[in-house]
Amino acid sequence: MSAESKYCQCQETQNHFLQRAFEALQLEAAQRELLLTAFRETSVSIPLKPHRTGDDDGELRTFIGYRVQHNHARGPFKGGLRFHPSVNLGEIRALAQLMTWKTALVDIPFGGAKGGIAVDTTQLSPHALETLTKRFVQKMEPVLGVHQDIPAPDVGTNPQVMAWILEEYSKSHGYTPAIVTGKPLELGGSAGRLEATGHGVAFLAGKAAQDIELAIKDASVVIQGFGNVGFHTAQHLATMGAKIIALSDARSGVFCESGINIEQAQRHVADSGWLEDLPGTEPVSNAELLELACDILIPAAVEGTINCDNAEAIQARLVVEAANIPVTHLADTTLRERGITVVPDLLANVGGVLVSYYEWVQNLQEFPWEYDTVMQRLERRLDQVYEQVRDLAQQRSVDLRTAAYEIAIGRVNRAIALRGF
Ligand code: NAD
Repeated sequence: MSAESKYCQCQETQNHFLQRAFEALQLEAAQRELLLTAFRETSVSIPLKPHRTGDDDGELRTFIGYRVQHNHARGPFKGGLRFHPSVNLGEIRALAQLMTWKTALVDIPFGGAKGGIAVDTTQLSPHALETLTKRFVQKMEPVLGVHQDIPAPDVGTNPQVMAWILEEYSKSHGYTPAIVTGKPLELGGSAGRLEATGHGVAFLAGKAAQDIELAIKDASVVIQGFGNVGFHTAQHLATMGAKIIALSDARSGVFCESGINIEQAQRHVADSGWLEDLPGTEPVSNAELLELACDILIPAAVEGTINCDNAEAIQARLVVEAANIPVTHLADTTLRERGITVVPDLLANVGGVLVSYYEWVQNLQEFPWEYDTVMQRLERRLDQVYEQVRDLAQQRSVDLRTAAYEIAIGRVNRAIALRGF
């Protein structure tokens, strides 16, 4: 799928979900327009002549970087930074908006933003990637700030990239760990941040499974995407007693009916770069993987992987959206009509931004918390938010997604009215 059609699908899906909540909240046209419009969209060009050996060819290239700041009615802009070849303004716009609803749903004092660079990081040496990241920060510096906009990791970025952002920003502002979250522990990162999103996905899968009377112990689970989120989701679900029967990455998938050993899979990926040829498993394509017979299906890769082409063939009883916007709105309707419960992205993967918030608080207070404190707070808050969404959904006979959007949009709308935007 082209970057442009992926964007159209993301935006259309997001708008469709929002309209349902707008109707329920009886918002006027002017309120809807304000809620949908981004506060600021910045794009920068980053010329770079990779000057190291390895995969770099030494040719001058111009990369485009984006930062979309959607809404800051409830606090500073907050959201990840994505390095991926298909990054484009439309996709970043849809993801920035989703961040506004996530931070509101979990009730932390942040707004929503997203950024990215259209780049294939596998084609750059570490040195070129560091230079690219630091030049992005140089150009974006006027719109970033501890109380203005705080980036975090997303697809293709990691704690090392966050460390480069911290370094570049600190050159002109003094040592400023709170400028970014998802940093290495040595630079003020929070205990538990690396696994927070996946841990939260697994925890919420457990809550939702209980509600549909599905025992998590021995439940069969299929996960698409084995990066930060997919790996930690798999790892935590395995400790909860679930059986991970299939995993995939951008290249292909692996299947084992009796269950995959997650630590072994991680070592295999660390050694070879991919899941392909993992001993004791059979190959499966990404398309086949989504349609496998299982109890729980967890898309943890990219947008739109569950769509009109496969929604009828999904066999899971529960779909937990670890990735952002992985189910198109038409597929969402099909899944709902088929009685499949969907835990929506703005709820399912909110553990990441929640612990990012804890990290920011620890940095501002210059007072690190213990791992257990972070995890207890994470689970307690996720438990409360899940029950609030589930109770509203039951009360109003709507799905979890509509209930979650209603809560989030209602909060942002009230903040806008109180501030007199
Ligand atoms: P990552 O870069 O660490 O991992 C992405 C994984 O998906 C990799 O295994 C990659 O090979 C695989 N992948 C990429 N394209 C694919 C495709 N077309 N089909 C199948 N697999 C594919 O990224 P991540 O941080 O794990 O993020 C995954 C998803 O979770 C994204 O949608 C991201 O926006 C969302 N998310 C991440 C966080 C976080 O804290 N990292 C928080 C909230 C949401």
